[in-house]
Amino acid sequence: MQRKKFDFEVDEKILLKKNEDKLKFIEQYSYENRTTYISYDNVPVIKYKIFDDYPELITGFSTRLGGVSRKHLSTLNLSFSRGDDRENVMENHRRLAEAVGYDYEKLVFSDQVHKTHIHIIDSEEDAGKGIVKESDILNTDGLITDLKNIPIMTFYADCVPLYMYDKANHVIGLAHSGWKGTVADIGGKMVEKMKDIYGSNPEDIICAIGPSICRNCYEVDDVVVDRLKEHYTAEESESLIDDKENGKYQLDLHLACKLNFMKAGIPDENIALPDLCTCCNSNVLFSHRASKGMRGNLAAVMMLRA
Ligand SMILES: [Zn+2]
Repeated sequence: MQRKKFDFEVDEKILLKKNEDKLKFIEQYSYENRTTYISYDNVPVIKYKIFDDYPELITGFSTRLGGVSRKHLSTLNLSFSRGDDRENVMENHRRLAEAVGYDYEKLVFSDQVHKTHIHIIDSEEDAGKGIVKESDILNTDGLITDLKNIPIMTFYADCVPLYMYDKANHVIGLAHSGWKGTVADIGGKMVEKMKDIYGSNPEDIICAIGPSICRNCYEVDDVVVDRLKEHYTAEESESLIDDKENGKYQLDLHLACKLNFMKAGIPDENIALPDLCTCCNSNVLFSHRASKGMRGNLAAVMMLRA
C-alpha cells in the first residue's frame, strides 16, 4: 500500500508550538480519494468530506493535540476511565466542543463493550449522560437519535468508528466497531434499527468509517479469522485478510465495515473509507496497539443542529 504525507493547510498561530512538528508527520495511506481532512480551531478536528453537503450536521474526530493531559494521555484524552484527572478530561472536552461546535455538557456516552446493543436517544433526559451525570446507557456500542442539539460521542484507540446520517429523516448514528462488533455486524444492525424506528431507507444513509487501525498494522490470529469466516462468505473473507502462513493474518477492518454497510443496502457511493490510521500515526492519534495499551481515548462526535 502506497503511503503519502497528509498535506493540509495549517494555521500555525493557533497551534501549540510543540505540536507543529508532530503535525507534519500525519500520514495517510492511499485509497483513491482523500476522504478526510483536518480543520483547526483551537484544536485540530478530523472531518469527512462526505458530510460537507449537510450543514444541519456537526461531525468530528479528535486527535491527541490541543489538550491538557500529560504523559501517555497527552494531550487530548477524552476518557474518564483511563487514569486521567477528571478536571483535565473536562477541560479537553470543553476545548473539543468549542472547536467542533456543540455544548459538551449535553454529550451522551455509553460504556462500549464490543457488543451490538444500540440505544435510541429519544428523550432530552439522556443529555449529559456520561459527562455531567452518570450514564445508565450500559452494555451499549451504538447510539442513534433524531433529537436536535444533543451531541452523541463514542471513544476509540484503533477500533473503528461508524458515522451514519439519514439525510431524508435527519437521524444520526455512531457505533463502535472493533473486530468483535464488526463480525457481529453492528453496522448492519444500526441500519436495521434506523429502518425500524425511523423508517430510514438505506439509500438515504450516508456513512463514514472513521480513523482506525489499517490493514498493514492490524495483525490477528486464527481466533479472529475463524469468527470472520462465520460472518463473511469465503470470497469476502479472502478479500479481507492476508494470510501470512504462520497462524497470523493482516485484517482489513475498514473494508469489513464497508461490506457490512453494503450488505445492509447502503450504496457504495454513500460510504467514505478512512485514509488515516491510528496506529501509523500514533504520535498524533491514540493507538492501543502502538502504545501497548498505555493510551488515552480519541472520540467521534455527531450532532444535529436545531
Ligand atoms: Zn496503520
